[in-house]
Amino acid sequence: MALIKPSSVEEVKAAADMVEVVQARTQLRRVGSRWQGRCPFHEERTPSFSVNPADKLFYCFGCQKGGDLITFVRETEGLDFAQAIEWLADRYRIQLEYEESSPQLEAGRRRRERLLALMEQAATFYGRHLWETEAGGPVRAYLAERGLLEEVCRDFRLGLSPGGTVLAEKARTKGYSQDELVAAGLVNRRGNDYFAGRLVFPLADPRGRVLGFGARRLHEDDPIPAKYVNSPEGELFRKGSLVYGLDQARAAVAKEDRAVIVEGYTDVLALHQAGLGDAVASMGTALTQPQLKELRRLTRRLYLCFDADAAGQAATLRGMELAVAAGFEVRIVALPPGLDPADAVEGFGERLGAAEGYLAYRVRLEIERAPSKQEAFEQVQSVLGQAPAGPEREDVARYASDRLGVPLRLAAGTRQSLGEVSTRLLDAGERLERRLLAACATKPELVERYIRPLGERHFDNPLHRRLRAYLVGEAEADREVVAALAELDATAESEHLGEETARELFLRLEERVVRRELAELRGEDMARTVELQGVLTKIQDALQKVGA
Ligand code: ZN
Repeated sequence: MALIKPSSVEEVKAAADMVEVVQARTQLRRVGSRWQGRCPFHEERTPSFSVNPADKLFYCFGCQKGGDLITFVRETEGLDFAQAIEWLADRYRIQLEYEESSPQLEAGRRRRERLLALMEQAATFYGRHLWETEAGGPVRAYLAERGLLEEVCRDFRLGLSPGGTVLAEKARTKGYSQDELVAAGLVNRRGNDYFAGRLVFPLADPRGRVLGFGARRLHEDDPIPAKYVNSPEGELFRKGSLVYGLDQARAAVAKEDRAVIVEGYTDVLALHQAGLGDAVASMGTALTQPQLKELRRLTRRLYLCFDADAAGQAATLRGMELAVAAGFEVRIVALPPGLDPADAVEGFGERLGAAEGYLAYRVRLEIERAPSKQEAFEQVQSVLGQAPAGPEREDVARYASDRLGVPLRLAAGTRQSLGEVSTRLLDAGERLERRLLAACATKPELVERYIRPLGERHFDNPLHRRLRAYLVGEAEADREVVAALAELDATAESEHLGEETARELFLRLEERVVRRELAELRGEDMARTVELQGVLTKIQDALQKVGA
């Protein structure tokens, strides 16, 4: 991966219009110097989402999500940092410069770009063949018969491969080599179409770049017996790292804070058509680590839908375990045997509503399939032993005890993480720190006056210390600091924290430090005690002047 030059990153940040980027996700209204609207990250009726267009920051008072322009693009588009910069550069027509890399790396990057362009053209070509040719007629009829409307098929860029050498010849006239066609997985070694005569589903990364295809058998005389064939694993395509449909589902997954994971490509289409925009497919029954990483950028809640046969398979269970271990809240929707989500779109919402939590599902499954009560007991003990302690585990243990007719001994279990500390949980002293940082965060002159004179010892909260260090230029901002800055900025605005408040808070923090030192002295060093009491009196006088 070539690194984007910092100057290019700055150029992109400067060129991008924060309001425009956010407006693509939610309607904003101008209020004073800021913009407000309904939060694109959680469902709400009254707007609590606030955007600072000048400093390009956002913050939601409802769900407490906040950050800068880059964070916003990363979260809503499901991208990493470099991808977010590239995404913005695309939109604002900035030519990115990359750090000097070796000629080999550079050549690799150029080759990858060419292959991606080739895949993009192939997807368009297959799409035209499906929608604009006579040969596509029976396939269009087949899709209609499956209940899939043209709109959703076009959204997901379905296509038809004509077979033979049509695609290869066309690509060659555009300057692509045989080697590139093979590398992209579009033709076989003999130069023939890899997916001859099949219905093709482009498989794209979260940015919508086509990396491969899945192809469904349509004809009895298709020489390949498999119902579905995917692109061969190669330079672009890696089956285990893609989540089918995530490019289409990203926004809905982020907004619903949930991903519904099904098995089949057409299940995804059917559910999208039925209004479940957060449906994606797992490309096989087991979720992989790279897939979970992609999903995690958007949500922590997964609803896994399997037909009853697949649901109990070892690979499926491993995928669930992986997801639970990665911190996802996992719910299982087991469909009756032989029923696909595509056949059951009606009432699918209710099925989701009735989805069973992973722990309950797993324990029930272990009990049902254990050959003896003794083995069931041992399996259940082991599953529950690994689960975090909490009400869910207790409920499930009670259920298992009832089913097995024996009381279960639960180990202490793993500790549940404490989660993020929200502002509301801060003690009074830390609130002072936070409010001072908020009042000054985006005003350099106030930082100079009221933050720079303070030191680390003025701040108890570790995050506040890092914010101080960042504001006075001693440290770089990381993601957590950026998110906190966005929150501070929005808080300052909504609570009208101005210079006067900053001065008062500054004095209060000074006062706290002096009082602490006095307490530590316990009157032992008389000279220092007198000196500090003098300082304290001055601070208190100053506090009276600011009307506190
Ligand atoms: Zn929100």
